[in-house]
Amino acid sequence: MVSRDAWVLEALCSMLRRRNLLTTILIALPWALLLTLWHQYPTTHYLSLLRKETDENVTSKALLNGTSALREGSLPSCIRQQQSTGATPRVIQSYVYSRPPPWSDTLPTIFVITPTYTRPVQKAELTRLANTFLHVQNLHWVVVEDSPRRTNLVSNLLEKAGLNFTHLNVETPKSLKLGLSWIPSHTPRGTLQRNLGLHWLRDSFSNTAPPEGVVYFADDDNTYSLELFEEMRYTRRVSVWPVAFVGGLRYESPKVSPAGKVVGWKTVFDPNRPFAIDMAGFAISIKLILEKPQASFKLEGVKGGYQETSLLKDLVTMDGLEPKAANCTKVLVWHTRTERPTLVNEGKRGFTDPRVEV
Ligand code: UDP
Ligand code: MN
Repeated sequence: MVSRDAWVLEALCSMLRRRNLLTTILIALPWALLLTLWHQYPTTHYLSLLRKETDENVTSKALLNGTSALREGSLPSCIRQQQSTGATPRVIQSYVYSRPPPWSDTLPTIFVITPTYTRPVQKAELTRLANTFLHVQNLHWVVVEDSPRRTNLVSNLLEKAGLNFTHLNVETPKSLKLGLSWIPSHTPRGTLQRNLGLHWLRDSFSNTAPPEGVVYFADDDNTYSLELFEEMRYTRRVSVWPVAFVGGLRYESPKVSPAGKVVGWKTVFDPNRPFAIDMAGFAISIKLILEKPQASFKLEGVKGGYQETSLLKDLVTMDGLEPKAANCTKVLVWHTRTERPTLVNEGKRGFTDPRVEV
């Protein structure tokens, strides 16, 4: 009796096991199929399909879902590789962007004066700059072309940029251009243009109360961190900070005393200049620019490296400088230069389309 019961029990158990097996197969099979199909589609293809959705919100949500799917199952091979070697990717998806940030009635305005001139990389430079400035609140871009007239290229770029701007132009006479002049007192690049920018500011606020704010001279080829603009925003008179890649150094910097005063210059090239600082290393309050209407960059008799001094000496003394960027211990701007492209095939017929703007 006992053995028959045991036999029945065993038969029952084996049936259940088979059932379990069947259930397992029924559940696992569709998943296996799904995963096989999934792997046949490259992730990029999947994401590009999602991006085709027109509704912005839907797209961003779909992309987020896509990203979490990425995280779980179908990581691209390079990332999977990283994981198997122990390094896990750091994924942040909590930011919500809006550009430009809304104009504020309480924040001081930053007037950025940029001299620029026609050359193959001009549009690339100005695009890069606009993309940076789009992240800065209350920024007004004063673009001054070194040209006999305002060009369509710059006009169109400014119209589309989504920034507040003023577009000016003044041509540097050939005789004054650096490197072309036989007279030793040549005019450094962008000088007339920066002066015109200052003139526009003074003119604009001659009859109206000026806004709180600063003026900053930003050449079109340098690299600017967003932090830099917040450092300069509350300048009382003239603020200063280090600049990377000038004067043959990794960086030049104002020398700051333990009491937080500027007491000299960490430069190799002529540290005895009254203001041994690059154009990218200072900002001036609008108030001071308006208080001293005569202050401008000098055109003649300015030795190399003395351009900044020629303006600053009429505005402040070293004692009045405000060191920024953690007492001048942080580099927030880089005096970078863009390589001139070699356009060897430019002359060949049929290779350039006049309708294509570069
Ligand atoms: N620039 C200009 N006209 C020129 C040469 C330069 O307006 O003939 C502008 C240029 O676009 C840049 C600034 O002046 O914004 C400084 O020029 P560059 O970067 O060539 O000078 P560097 O960095 O060598 O001092
Ligand atoms: Mn430059």
